[in-house]
Amino acid sequence: MKSNLDYIKLSERFSARNYLPLPVVLTRAKGCWVWDVEGNRYLDMLSSYSALNQGHCHPVILKALKKQAARLTLTSRAFHNDQMALFLQKLCRLAKYEKVLPMNSGAEAVETAIKVARKWGYYRKKVKKNQAKIIVCKNNFHGRTTTIISFSSESQYRDGFGPFTPGFKLISYNDPDALKRAIDEKTVAFLVEPIQGEGGVVIPDKGYLKECYKICKKNNILFIADEIQTGLGRTGRLFACDYEAVKPDILILGKALGGGFYPVSAVLCDDEIMDVLNPGDHGSTFGGNPLASAVAIASLDVIIKERLVQHAEKMGNWFMKELKKIKGKYIKEVRGRGLLIGVEMKRPARTYCEKLMDSGILAKETHKFVVRFAPPLIIKKSELNWALPRIEDILAR
Ligand SMILES: *Cc1c(COP(=O)(O)O)cnc(C)c1O
Repeated sequence: MKSNLDYIKLSERFSARNYLPLPVVLTRAKGCWVWDVEGNRYLDMLSSYSALNQGHCHPVILKALKKQAARLTLTSRAFHNDQMALFLQKLCRLAKYEKVLPMNSGAEAVETAIKVARKWGYYRKKVKKNQAKIIVCKNNFHGRTTTIISFSSESQYRDGFGPFTPGFKLISYNDPDALKRAIDEKTVAFLVEPIQGEGGVVIPDKGYLKECYKICKKNNILFIADEIQTGLGRTGRLFACDYEAVKPDILILGKALGGGFYPVSAVLCDDEIMDVLNPGDHGSTFGGNPLASAVAIASLDVIIKERLVQHAEKMGNWFMKELKKIKGKYIKEVRGRGLLIGVEMKRPARTYCEKLMDSGILAKETHKFVVRFAPPLIIKKSELNWALPRIEDILAR
C-alpha cells in the first residue's frame, strides 16, 4: 500500500508545479466526507471551490451519469443529441432566461460572455469596430485564460504571461461611483462577482449590485454576473444576485452545474442578446455533450428536490453565528452569506489550514489571510457540530 507521501513524491516528479496542495492524497468520498490513501477521514469544507454543492458522489447524479455513459457520451455539436435540449430547457426555466450557451469550464463560460457582450456592443449598440470596453473590478477572479488574466489585478496571475488582451478597465469593487466614472461611449458591459470568492469572500455593501445594475441600464451597458462560485444555492439563494432582486443581462454559471462529476458551464441571457451569435461564431467540441447534459439535469434536480438553497441559508446562518462566537486574538473578521464563509486571520491562513487538516477538516486559504469554509450544501447540523470545536481549537490559537 502506498502512503500519502509516496503519491506526493510521484506527483512532484511528474506534475507541473502550478499548485501547492495541502499534503493529503484522497482516494474515496461520500457526501461531505473524504478519505485519504492511509484511511484517514476528513470533512470536506472546500467542496472543490463550490463545485460539490450536492456533495461527493451523489447517488442520483451518479445514476444519471452511469446510465448516459452507457448510451451516448459525445456527438459534438455537428449533430443534435437528445439530452442537451432538455438540459437547456431546465436551466432556462429555473434561472428565467430565454437562451443558454453550454460550455465546459468556468473560464470558457467567462470567455463566451465576453465574446457575446463585445458582439452585442458592435452589432446592437453600434460601438466602433474593435473599440469595445468591458469594465471589471479589482480583486476579481474570473479564471485563468490569457484574456481573463489580462484584466486580473493579481500580479502573480499576470507575471510572465503578457502581452495582454486590451479592452478592459479595472475599477474598485463595491464602488458604484467608480462605475459611473469609468463609463464612456465604448463601454459595452460591466462584469462582476456578486461576492468575490477567490478574492477572500468579499461581500459588497447592501444595494451595490442593484445600484450598478441601474447605472448599466441607464447607460445601455450589459450587466454580467459571474456566479460560477456563488450560484446554484451556495449563498442561500439560488443566485447571489437574488438578494438584491437583480436579474443580470448575462449570467455565468459553472462549478456545481456539473454536480462534482463533470465540467459543465453555461452562459444565460435573453434572445435579444444571444441572437447576435450566428452559426460558426463560437463553439466547443465538448460543450453541451449528452453526458454533460444528463449530469447537469441531475445536478439541478438534486439542488431543487433536496431544497439545498433553503438548507444552505439555514445552516449557513447558524454556522456563521457559531463561528463568530470563537474568541481568538488572531481572528480579524468572520463574514459570509449562506455556506460561503470566510474567516480573516491576522496571520497567514495556510498554517491554520494545515492544522485543520491534521484535525480532520479540509479547508483552503484564499487570499493569504482568509480561511474559507464552504462545505457541500447537503451538510447536516450534526456534521457542522462535529467540526466546530475542532475549528475553534485551531483558530483560537
Ligand atoms: C472558479 C471560478 C472561475 C473559473 O472556473 P474554472 O472552471 O476553474 O475555469 C471563474 N469565476 C469564478 C467566480 C470562479 O469562482
